[in-house]
Amino acid sequence: MQKITTDIVIIGAGAAGMMAAHFCALKGKQVYLLDHNKQVGRKILISGGGKCNFTNIFGSSAEEYHSENKHFVKSALSRYTCYDFLELIEKNKIPYEQREVGKLFCLRSAKDIVNALLEQLQKPNIHLKLEQKNLDVEIHDDGFRVFNSHVEYFCNSLVIATGGIVLPSIGASDFGHKLAKRVGHKILPMSPALVPFKVEGWSELSGNAIKAGITCNGYYVAENVLFTHKGLSGPGVLKASLFWNPGDFIEINWLPQYHISDILKSASGQKQLNSVLSEYLPKSFIKLFFEKIDFDSSIHIAKISKKEELMLEKNLHHMVITPSGTEGFRKAEVTRGGVSTEFISSKTMESKLQKKLYFIGEVLDVTGQLGGHNFQWCWASAYAVGQAIAE
Ligand SMILES: Cc1cc2nc3c(=O)[nH]c(=O)nc-3n(C[C@H](O)[C@H](O)[C@H](O)COP(=O)(O)OP(=O)(O)OC[C@H]3O[C@@H](n4cnc5c(N)ncnc54)[C@H](O)[C@@H]3O)c2cc1C
Repeated sequence: MQKITTDIVIIGAGAAGMMAAHFCALKGKQVYLLDHNKQVGRKILISGGGKCNFTNIFGSSAEEYHSENKHFVKSALSRYTCYDFLELIEKNKIPYEQREVGKLFCLRSAKDIVNALLEQLQKPNIHLKLEQKNLDVEIHDDGFRVFNSHVEYFCNSLVIATGGIVLPSIGASDFGHKLAKRVGHKILPMSPALVPFKVEGWSELSGNAIKAGITCNGYYVAENVLFTHKGLSGPGVLKASLFWNPGDFIEINWLPQYHISDILKSASGQKQLNSVLSEYLPKSFIKLFFEKIDFDSSIHIAKISKKEELMLEKNLHHMVITPSGTEGFRKAEVTRGGVSTEFISSKTMESKLQKKLYFIGEVLDVTGQLGGHNFQWCWASAYAVGQAIAE
């Protein structure tokens, strides 16, 4: 069996692990970066529809994250911001564009991000080892033994960057969660997030999108809702899903920028309701909406009673929908929950239960909102560990 002694082993060559290897190596440490995949950063490659929304120019504040301890992310995020990551983008001359609400995407391909991260790994003190299957960890008084049947690595510090459990088909595993549990960390229930909802009865609108307001457990977002064969998707729905638990309802405002009573007041009494509303909503939506609420949309505006107006208001501005579920880990972008931050240092990412053991990226109970915040968490937590390990 091959035997290797090193300062640091990082398990997981995704966004967080690759970045951490770079930061640790900058401090002169010998780093082994291990992954069971054949290829690094597979999730980066498929992110943002292949264009990777790598950060958010409006910044990533604690409000953009779901975590049991909402203060946990503050220290790391404040020490490594979107501008720090932009330096890497600009150094590598990666063309990018800003989309709505500050999201930065590659113009060419997410490959540009993986290549930039790989380029950073080209240092004599970084050793990237792929296809490291069936790894296990032993904890000794003087460090860690990371091993499989072919090789054993002895290291002083161990960084776990194995991510969440979304998409096992491209390498996701619960390795980090199991190790954390072994040393006494709580694992918060894991559920799919940034994921479409399954909702019956809207499939005939499949492919259409409407800007709507969605409220879920006190969280409100006004963005596009996309109708799918299985229910509802689009940025508004994905964002709301971060706050949804099975059995919860969501409330949809189909006309967030207007109010039905103003629309009715300003319309001619001779006009039909469906023709007035068609100035605000797609005809196909209007047809299905009125079928659902069982109301004759050809009614003339002058004929609408106060009671009917209130009923229209309730359904147009406060429609309550209870999704039967989500499309699950297969379609989710991230895992909500994971290794509890309760006994993790927010400054260094080190376990308070096991010295020199660090957790970074999505394996932790830190789930970012849609918009580049998940990658920004990976970069920032990797930076925090790089600074701490070198001390
Ligand atoms: C379809 C999709 C689109 C997304 N788009 C965006 C986006 O545009 N912007 C954004 O901010 N976020 C996006 N995300 C979320 C983002 O990709 C993740 O939050 C981020 O990749 C997490 O990085 P990580 O390094 O913590 O984990 P990962 O990227 O999952 O990396 C973990 C690594 O650990 C390895 N590993 C796991 N188990 C083991 C083991 N037992 N032994 C050895 N190696 C192991 C894996 O092979 C993998 O390489 C998207 C996610 C998906 C699924």
